[in-house]
Amino acid sequence: MPELLLNIGYLVSAGLFIIGLKGLTHPRTAVRGNLLGACGMLLAIVITLMDQKIVGFEYILAGIVIGAAIGVVLAVKIEMTSMPELVAAFNGFGGIASVFVAGAAIIENTLHGSTPMTQTTVAVAASGLIGAVTFWGSLVAFGKLKGLVGDKAVLFSGQQVINAGLAILALALSVGLVMDPTNAYFYWLLVLAASALGVLLVIPVGGADMPVVVALLNSYSGLAAASTGFILSNNVLIITGSLVGASGIILTRIMCKAMNRSLFNVLFGVLAPTGGGVSSDEVYTGRVKSASADEVALLFDAARRVAIIPGYGMAVSQAQHPVKTLATMLEERGIQVEYGVHPVAGRMPGHMNVLLAEADVSYESLKDMDEINQYIDQVDVALVIGANDVVNPLARTDPTSALAGMPIINVDKARTVVVIKRSLSPGFAGIPNPLFALDNTLMLFGDGKKAVLDIIAALKDT
Ligand code: NAP
Repeated sequence: MPELLLNIGYLVSAGLFIIGLKGLTHPRTAVRGNLLGACGMLLAIVITLMDQKIVGFEYILAGIVIGAAIGVVLAVKIEMTSMPELVAAFNGFGGIASVFVAGAAIIENTLHGSTPMTQTTVAVAASGLIGAVTFWGSLVAFGKLKGLVGDKAVLFSGQQVINAGLAILALALSVGLVMDPTNAYFYWLLVLAASALGVLLVIPVGGADMPVVVALLNSYSGLAAASTGFILSNNVLIITGSLVGASGIILTRIMCKAMNRSLFNVLFGVLAPTGGGVSSDEVYTGRVKSASADEVALLFDAARRVAIIPGYGMAVSQAQHPVKTLATMLEERGIQVEYGVHPVAGRMPGHMNVLLAEADVSYESLKDMDEINQYIDQVDVALVIGANDVVNPLARTDPTSALAGMPIINVDKARTVVVIKRSLSPGFAGIPNPLFALDNTLMLFGDGKKAVLDIIAALKDT
C-alpha cells in the first residue's frame, strides 16, 4: 500500500478517535462517540492488515477468531460489578504485548546483527520497561480485586528503597541497551527488573485504592503502546497510545480528587488517617429508626421534591429499573425527582451513570455532587439506595476517619432521609455512618430492588 495512502488512512482513524473521545465526555453524545471510535479502530485494523507483509493471513485470522471468542464470552458473562478487574486484565495484556513486540525487535537485531536507529532502541527500552511494569502491576491489581490475593496493603520496611533501587537498575539497563542494541541480555534483564518493580509498586496499595491504580495502569499501557508504535513505525499506534496515556492520567486525577487522596499517597501506600474513630455501637445504639415501605410511601405522598442518591448497593441488587419506575410514579404525582450522583459511588468511574442510563433515566435529571449539594436542604425526601461512604457525614466532621476530607453528597441536610440497605454494615471504607442514626433519617432495611418494589406497591395503594 502506498505510504501516503496509509498515512492518510491512519490520520482519518486518529481523527475519529479524537472526535470519539470528545463525544464520550457527555452522556448525550457518548453513544455516537463510541461508534466513531469503533469506526476509527476498524479503519486502522483494515489499513494495517492491507499493509502487512510479514505474517501470513492464516495466523492473523486464527488470532482474531480466538481473541474474538474470548472477548465475546467475557463480555456476555462479566458482571457490571466485576468490570474493574476486567479492565485491569486488559491493561495487563496491552503491557505484555508491548514487551513481546519490543522483544521481537531485539531478537531480530541479534539474528541479523543489524544496528537499529537510537530512536528505535529508546522505544524498545521504554516498551519493555513500561510494558512489564503494566503487566505485573495489572496482574496484582486483578488478583486483589478478584480476591485471589489479599486486598490489604502489603507494607514492609525498606520497600521504597528497594523500589527506588529497582527503578535505577531498570534505567541503567535501558541506557546499556541503547548503547549496545544488539545485546539481548540488557533487554531481558530490564524486563525482569521492571516486572519486579510492577509487583512491588502495586502490593502496597490497598483494595480501596485499587481502581485508582487500575486507571493509572491504563495510562501506562497507553504509553507502552505508543512506544511500540515507534518500534513498528506505526503512526496510528503512536497516536492511540498517547490518547490512552493522557486520558488514563486524567481519569486517575479525577478519581484521586473525588476520594480526597493524592496520587503520591495512593502509590506509596500512605493510607488515609484511620485514627481512633467512633465504634458502631457508639454511633447506632438506641438511635436508629427503621421504617416500612408503607411509611416511606406516605412520606412521598407529602413530598414536593425528592432526590435519589444511588450507591454500590443499587448495582449489587440491580435496582436501577425499579428506581426509574418509582421516579416516574412520583413525577406523575407532580413531585420533582432528581438523582444525585457521586463521582466515586459504586466501584468504578461512571458506575451509577451507566446503570441509570440502562434504565433510561434522562440525563437532565442526573445531578453531580456539587450541583445537588447546592440545594439539598430544600429536598423533602432524600432516598439513599445502597450508598454509604459517599453520604457519610464523618468525611466532613471527623479528621481521623478513613474518609476524612472526601467530598460527600450532604443528604443529612435534606428534610427527611430514607436509607435503603440490608443492615447497618459499613461500606467500602469500613467505618460506621452517623447518617443512619440522625433524627431525620429512616432506615428501610432490605435488598435494594425488593425494597423499591415494596415502596412502588405501597404507593399504588395510597
Ligand atoms: P459503599 O460505601 O461501598 O456502600 C455500599 C452499601 O451498599 C453497603 O453499605 C451495603 O450495605 C449496601 N448494599 C450492598 N448490597 C446491597 C443490596 N443488595 N441491597 C441494598 N444495599 C446493599 O458504596 P458507595 O456509597 O457507593 O461508595 C463507594 C465506595 O467505593 C467509596 O468508598 C469509594 O471511595 C469506593 N471506590 C469507588 C470507586 C469508583 O470508581 N466508583 C473506586 C474505588 C473505590 P448492606 O451490606 O448493609 O446492605
